[in-house]
Amino acid sequence: MRELLQEPLLVSAPVNVRYLTGFESTNAAILVEPERVRLFTDFRYAERAREVEGVEFEETKRYLYSDLAERLSERVAFEADALTYANYEFLREGGVELVPRRSLVESLRAVKQSEELEAIRRATEVTNQAYERLAEEQFAGRTEKELAWRMEQLFHDLGADALAFPVDVAAGPTAASPHAVPGDRVVEESDLVLVDAGAMLEGYCSDCTRTFAVGEVSDSLRDVYEIVRRAEQAGLEAIRPGVSGRDADVAARAVIEDAGYGENFGHGLGHGVGLLVHEAPVLRLESEDVLAAGNVVTVEPGIYLSGVGGIRIEDLVVVTDDGCEVLTSFPKELVSVG
Ligand code: ZN
Ligand code: ZN
Repeated sequence: MRELLQEPLLVSAPVNVRYLTGFESTNAAILVEPERVRLFTDFRYAERAREVEGVEFEETKRYLYSDLAERLSERVAFEADALTYANYEFLREGGVELVPRRSLVESLRAVKQSEELEAIRRATEVTNQAYERLAEEQFAGRTEKELAWRMEQLFHDLGADALAFPVDVAAGPTAASPHAVPGDRVVEESDLVLVDAGAMLEGYCSDCTRTFAVGEVSDSLRDVYEIVRRAEQAGLEAIRPGVSGRDADVAARAVIEDAGYGENFGHGLGHGVGLLVHEAPVLRLESEDVLAAGNVVTVEPGIYLSGVGGIRIEDLVVVTDDGCEVLTSFPKELVSVG
């Protein structure tokens, strides 16, 4: 972190404080200086804060930023994506000279260290097993909500610490919206059911989507599924160090566009995954990110047909020196459920 500094950096985003120090709190900040790191938090967290190694702990009042305004006097960089306007004003009125910076800690977080990769592998292994078990369940006759709760229960049974994000189950036409909320729709024979879910383990996330067929589905839906599967494969083959997030997206998108469904793939190809389920790097047309070994990203093309349904296939991969390693193991052929 110190190598990236042009001035001391005030880190406000809780996830970045946690990444740099291992310290978890909703009311903490750190100041990274060339020779030291200062950790600020209030009485409620002080006991744990004193145990953090490699930092100088300073106990603050409950209102962290009005207190910091008195403690900081020099020129300080702040996280433009994290510091609220109200807290910015506290600091400015206290005479702190503030320089906005972006993506400093995020750029470090994007390249995973080996222990982070291990946690993501474990979270993905739990996710893989949860999908295996879900595929043995009866889908027809249960609501989207019931299936979502069942998936949460499977994660719990398999040893997840938490969910990486709320489980999404979308049946039939519900899935035409990429981020639907599970509702009371009862799953019917011949529906496609999209399930997007991921476990969290040791603070790290996993992310997977599969689309299931309930019994037999129409040939036309099978054909669309096959297009998404080929697009996902093209996306995986494009992933390697030096490739831009844009070019990876284009590789998968071309398959869907060539099949005439370009308008029906309205989101990006994927995103980084780590302490947060959405982080750098980003794989989409507007992205300026360039992939590097150690990135962990999703590859998740989809086709959404209004009034009919949606199909998405999402794998989680690690960028390696010459390509990528796919962590998700659940089959990608269209799996039929009861
Ligand atoms: Zn997902
Ligand atoms: Zn995702």
